[in-house]
Amino acid sequence: MDHAATTATRPEVAAAMVPYMTGHFGNPSSLYDLARVSREAVAAAREQVAAAIGAEPKQIYFTSGGTESDNWALKGVAFARKAKGNHIITSAVEHHAISHTCVWLEKQGFSVTYLPVDRYGMVDPAAVEAAITPETILVSVMMANNEIGTIMPVAEIGAVARKHGVLFHTDAVQAVGHIPIDVRAQNIDLLSLSGHKFRGPKGTGALYIGPGVRLDPLMHGGAQERGRRAGTENVPGIVGMGMALELATAEMEENTRRITALRDRLTAGLLSIPETYLNGHPERRLPNNVNVVFAYIEGESILLMLNRRGIAASTGSACSTTSLEPSHVLMACGLPHEVVHGSLRLTLGEQTTEADVDYVISAVMEIVQRLRDMSPLTPAELRSRPESG
Ligand SMILES: *Cc1c(COP(=O)(O)O)cnc(C)c1O
Repeated sequence: MDHAATTATRPEVAAAMVPYMTGHFGNPSSLYDLARVSREAVAAAREQVAAAIGAEPKQIYFTSGGTESDNWALKGVAFARKAKGNHIITSAVEHHAISHTCVWLEKQGFSVTYLPVDRYGMVDPAAVEAAITPETILVSVMMANNEIGTIMPVAEIGAVARKHGVLFHTDAVQAVGHIPIDVRAQNIDLLSLSGHKFRGPKGTGALYIGPGVRLDPLMHGGAQERGRRAGTENVPGIVGMGMALELATAEMEENTRRITALRDRLTAGLLSIPETYLNGHPERRLPNNVNVVFAYIEGESILLMLNRRGIAASTGSACSTTSLEPSHVLMACGLPHEVVHGSLRLTLGEQTTEADVDYVISAVMEIVQRLRDMSPLTPAELRSRPESG
């Protein structure tokens, strides 16, 4: 129930990677037959990744993951376009790979606007347009939110940016392999993706760089990736990511139909618990995402009790579960501080079954009831305290 955090590499993908660690271990930059095999494997994977997002192979640059792609897009464009202006526009609900990079860029002298979202976590394209100044060089808004699953109006935001001569980057890590993407139709100049979110290996990713987009390198060194990203290619990882994405794209329609039905069953089951509310957009959301808040309880307590029943879940995003910071995404959606702590994110995967969903619904029902019985914050208790309003 935590597939937004990561997924299991498909067994056939793992098997396809092994030869590139053993027999075909050549460095793609070398000039002998062993190297040519690696070079051709990387080229084939580049075609697979490009095809999945409507790009050309030469526009795909392999990286070490979503975090590197996000850092590269933002820092690379910021420094390459510094002479044009110093203003960047992003949203208040981005993954930390974007938002922490923006905070760092502010320390380097750039100015960043963090656009608010509506209660569903959506950025208004009109607000993007209103925030653009003559100094604006880049807009970065994610395609789909990793916590609440809301799908952003990316094509409209991209059109606004293009109209004003501003570059548009989207963190599509949660979207690639899960919903259809066409970089051209969606007016995207730069797009980040990550292999381990669509059943590829961890530590693999790519950045799509559209025609005419200039950006400084993040990694300096050798001339790999046409001189734009130094470092010996992760050949087995790249092979695995390409194959996983090709399979995810081929199976997308059927998976979406099946997983959406399971998601709706899970949502309905959870919302039957009193004082439980859905976070994120009711329709414009990822097929596999359920995010709810339960009044009067702590999300962390639910997680521990779910874990004891063999259920892996998350409150907010996995990256912030070790800190007890309230989710910046739910806060940006306008949820009050006390309620944010009672949030639970469940994200389904290709192997999830109807029996899994029913087991989770009954476990959550029982846990929420137990915690509310123990909680000093339940409505009955509040009413019995004379000083409470
Ligand atoms: C997981 C994730 C990332 C980070 O990707 P890694 O490959 O784990 O570095 C970035 N953005 C979003 C929206 C994500 O869900």
